[in-house]
Amino acid sequence: MPWLKTAIIVQQPQSRLRASNVYSIQTEYARLQLIGVALLQLSEKKDKHVLEETVFSKIIRKEIPSDMLYQDDLVTAFRDINPARPTHILIVPNVHIPTACEFSDEHEPILGRMLRVASKLADQEGISADGYRLIINCGEHGRQEVMHVHMHLLGGADVGPMLVR
Ligand code: AMP
Repeated sequence: MPWLKTAIIVQQPQSRLRASNVYSIQTEYARLQLIGVALLQLSEKKDKHVLEETVFSKIIRKEIPSDMLYQDDLVTAFRDINPARPTHILIVPNVHIPTACEFSDEHEPILGRMLRVASKLADQEGISADGYRLIINCGEHGRQEVMHVHMHLLGGADVGPMLVR
């Protein structure tokens, strides 16, 4: 335990401190400071990613306007502000889960509800017979722009090939 070693040395009377011990304290102190700064930076980075709310939280709490179609205890659905097809709805968890990478076992009821609400809204929009696409973009390679998990419900016209090859 390096910190214990440092503490013991610090407790020695000044007269009994040898040069090597002083050096040991200084390097140990510098090392601990570096570790401390690195840990702080790591936790700040994680907190920023995990805790920072997006515009979707404000929509869910009705603090800003949206074309909301559905809300229950677990999920909220509203029309995309920049629709890519005649029907373009976003279904989002009420709790802030930044990306699909953060899904855990406890989120299973939310994920089930998102899918169920998507199929109900598709019926409501009259697009079920012709079909539609559900998309969840995740992270950088998934080109996710809003860091609050959301499922796109797209339909009302052919949505095209799945991916450009
Ligand atoms: P993604 O690229 O999967 O993160 O998609 C984000 C989607 O959120 C885009 O389709 C945006 O048009 C949509 N969006 C961003 N801000 C709003 C907003 N205030 N209301 C509704 N949709 C939004």
